[in-house]
Amino acid sequence: MPLYEFRCPQCGCRFELLCSISQRDNAVCPKCAGKVERVYQGKCAFGAIKGASGCGGNCSGCPGCGSRT
Ligand SMILES: [Zn+2]
Repeated sequence: MPLYEFRCPQCGCRFELLCSISQRDNAVCPKCAGKVERVYQGKCAFGAIKGASGCGGNCSGCPGCGSRT
């Protein structure tokens, strides 16, 4: 399972969660149980998951970077 980072707009806390994609979409804040938004980390999530070290996070050539907006 991938590790996702979230931020809560209500109380401002940040936390990481190891969860599936369906759980990720329903993630809530552990403090206030509010709806949270996902934080994109500096490095390429796809590269991190696949264990690749060549991607610096802005290559836009891999699925991890290419899906970032
Ligand atoms: Zn919160």
